[in-house]
Amino acid sequence: MSGQAIEFRREVPVRHEVDVCVVGGGAAGVAAAAAASRAGASVFLGEATGCFGGLGTAGLVPAFCGVGNGVSVLGGPFCNEILKAMDIPPGAESREFSYIDAEKLKRVYDEIVVESGCICSLEVRLAAVVAESGRVEAALFTECGDESLFAVKASVFIDATGNGDLAAWAGADFAIGNACGVVMPSTLCSSWSGIDWQAYDRKGTPLFDLLTKAMDDGVFSLKDWHHSGMFPVGRGIAGGNFGHIYNLRADKTDSRTSGWLDIRKRIGEFKYFYRNYVPGFQRAELVATAAMMGIRECRRITGDYILTLDDFRKKARFDDEIGVFAYSVDIHPLDDTKAEFERFQREFYTNLRYKAGECYGVPYRVLIPSRLKNVLTAGRCVSTDQPMEASIRVMPGCYLTGYAAGTAAALAPGGDVRQVAAEEIRRVMNAAR
Ligand SMILES: Cc1cc2nc3c(=O)[nH]c(=O)nc-3n(C[C@H](O)[C@H](O)[C@H](O)COP(=O)(O)OP(=O)(O)OC[C@H]3O[C@@H](n4cnc5c(N)ncnc54)[C@H](O)[C@@H]3O)c2cc1C
Repeated sequence: MSGQAIEFRREVPVRHEVDVCVVGGGAAGVAAAAAASRAGASVFLGEATGCFGGLGTAGLVPAFCGVGNGVSVLGGPFCNEILKAMDIPPGAESREFSYIDAEKLKRVYDEIVVESGCICSLEVRLAAVVAESGRVEAALFTECGDESLFAVKASVFIDATGNGDLAAWAGADFAIGNACGVVMPSTLCSSWSGIDWQAYDRKGTPLFDLLTKAMDDGVFSLKDWHHSGMFPVGRGIAGGNFGHIYNLRADKTDSRTSGWLDIRKRIGEFKYFYRNYVPGFQRAELVATAAMMGIRECRRITGDYILTLDDFRKKARFDDEIGVFAYSVDIHPLDDTKAEFERFQREFYTNLRYKAGECYGVPYRVLIPSRLKNVLTAGRCVSTDQPMEASIRVMPGCYLTGYAAGTAAALAPGGDVRQVAAEEIRRVMNAAR
């Protein structure tokens, strides 16, 4: 830090004035924009990258999980819509992974956004928020176009940035990480070709033993015990979900930068591992690493209610719930010790996993930042403690909170999000296709 500051003033054109402004076009943002438009609101959706879908597309996350609790699909109507559009076969209420063709998912989101009739802009990034006394007046976006900065005014703003940028910049309280501020690790997902899926038996291959052997052989510069693996996202193609970057702080540029540099260096070790230790991967080629860092956790915006681990244990239900969810508490190991990996295994597979048919309620209040009047959150940044973020952050959970936020925003009288009855949100959501 140089310690200096400069003052920067200029007039910024108001390019759109709408009922609802959704910032971030990931799973939650697309769901929110579609819901608000379908409920009759005028909507602007601004997304920083060149595609919708966030981590599920630009981030190359290779699978949906947490789709159901073994009995029902739990991500609300939008989850059903996406599964259908993706041709994911019946049985999606299962707790297995459903694999993602990222290019297909991009097109599915494009069509939903366009068909919803909302105004959308790609490659625009929220740069600042104009807010006073808890009310957001305008969102300022950067663009590559001539004006470089433009504003959007709205009655309600939805923060679907994943990291909680809009709400935090508008003055909301937030928490990051566990009691010591340690966040779940990030992972840069990747795309691979040349896989012989016939020769690879995902359930039968002793991947953990092979990984341990490779660690003992000195293949890896870091002991990373938790390895989600390669997922069959196409013929001969794999989506890679492995390589943890510990305590990457997504709200800090230096931390993000060193995370990118570190993981790109380490990915060659995984290539060596797969080619030399894992059946079916002898001819594997790394096609690409994702254009978006796989951030599992950043700011959790403090809302009118904070969903906690205690709620998970009690299978809490709420009068104002917008739906139910059931995915296990999936706090990836917070460091590279074996003890942390064993803690993760105990929790994820046994202690913090529901039996078939069980669920917890998601109250509307977790979408309402407690210090703000006309803002809702959706997706990863809703109001939870770390364990519950580790459950609700998966894509079906983001569809649920996103669709509810969009519906509520469209219903909010004069932009007052606290005047919307959860019963009404549920009624509109249940009537959705
Ligand atoms: C490595 C990894 C593996 C995972 N595996 C699974 C899995 O197997 N199954 C599953 O269901 N889930 C999985 N998840 C979780 C899931 O993918 C994400 O939590 C979920 O996609 C988050 O959705 P979101 O819409 O809240 O945020 P994001 O997907 O992060 O989307 C946020 C969007 O907002 C945009 N944005 C951010 N800031 C700004 C800004 N300032 N201005 C404008 N736009 C902005 C971003 O470009 C992005 O498109 C995984 C996550 C990771 C990281």
